[in-house]
Amino acid sequence: MHGKTVMPGLIDCHVHVMSVIANPTANAGLPNVTTAYAAIPVLRSMLSRGFTTVRDAAGADFFLAQAIEEGYVQGPRIFPSGKALSQTGGHGDFRRRTDHIEPSCCSDRLGMLTRIEDGVDNVRRAAREELLKGATQIKITASGGVASSADRIDNTGFSLDEIRAIVEEAEATNTYVMAHAYTPRAIRRATDCGVRTIEHGNLVDEETAKRMHDCSVYAVPTLVTYDALANHGEHFGLYPESIAKVAAVREAGFHSLEIFKQAGVRVGFGTDLLGEMHKYQSDEFRIRANVLKPSEIIASATAVNAEILRMQDQLGCIEPGALADILVVDGNPLRDISLLTGQGEHLIAIMKSGHFFKEELA
Ligand SMILES: [Zn+2]
Repeated sequence: MHGKTVMPGLIDCHVHVMSVIANPTANAGLPNVTTAYAAIPVLRSMLSRGFTTVRDAAGADFFLAQAIEEGYVQGPRIFPSGKALSQTGGHGDFRRRTDHIEPSCCSDRLGMLTRIEDGVDNVRRAAREELLKGATQIKITASGGVASSADRIDNTGFSLDEIRAIVEEAEATNTYVMAHAYTPRAIRRATDCGVRTIEHGNLVDEETAKRMHDCSVYAVPTLVTYDALANHGEHFGLYPESIAKVAAVREAGFHSLEIFKQAGVRVGFGTDLLGEMHKYQSDEFRIRANVLKPSEIIASATAVNAEILRMQDQLGCIEPGALADILVVDGNPLRDISLLTGQGEHLIAIMKSGHFFKEELA
């Protein structure tokens, strides 16, 4: 094998495999069987792109992870969050201002990625329920967001007491909380309440990044989703109110990579794509290459993400006792990161848990 590179399987720490159409309200209304079947090609193509492990940030549950583990469906190993927790009117509340429906209308649907809970007792019970059902970590929305149409990006999500209660429940079962947050204010609140990973974090400033570093909080930027939403969001049925919010975070995202690096924050790799836009997943490598070295980007998508999953001896590495998630790249991605982009065209072998998913070594 000349000129090939052996490397650990890639890890994406922020995906939504149950988002099979981009419009979150339409996704929530899909029959369960439609969502489940539509997720099959999403999962398979993630594996084709070399992602042997993903952390699902809302939507996937224990039983999907198990179906893959048992071989019913081909896809990456999943660390599921179950349904993400959001307050009423928060980023997980996808109602438009004009909607006249209950937030719980679709709570039994696979395509409903979130649950709306208010008050310390309710969020505590919700966290306990998701943990009971097999979530490997709890996801909360701690600020406004893009895909939700009625909230502002600079809103905060949940009261401090609510966040603390959720963190307490996660830690009681030896896991942690990941929080969707954009602004310094939202990031600081989450960090001070014990959240372990900040998702997106686009608008972070130096002072807040330093605080994250001091509290050993990880950042999981997801820059590709803003590219995809800006370029294709309208076509795929995202509301105009949502598209209008993309610009506010897209440019800042580049700057956030530099701020996190300066402050010494451990930076993971995420993508956060919705529905029809999953195929752009590996463009995250291309986008980060504007700011970071290939070695830094690859470390995020392997070693750092394995740390986030608390699996650093088993994932994101090639060593005795690890789970044998291994890629063979046609070329050297440390010199040319574009070998990891596209749909896996430059991957000549993909092994997950010691089994070849793709093998074109000959
Ligand atoms: Zn997300």
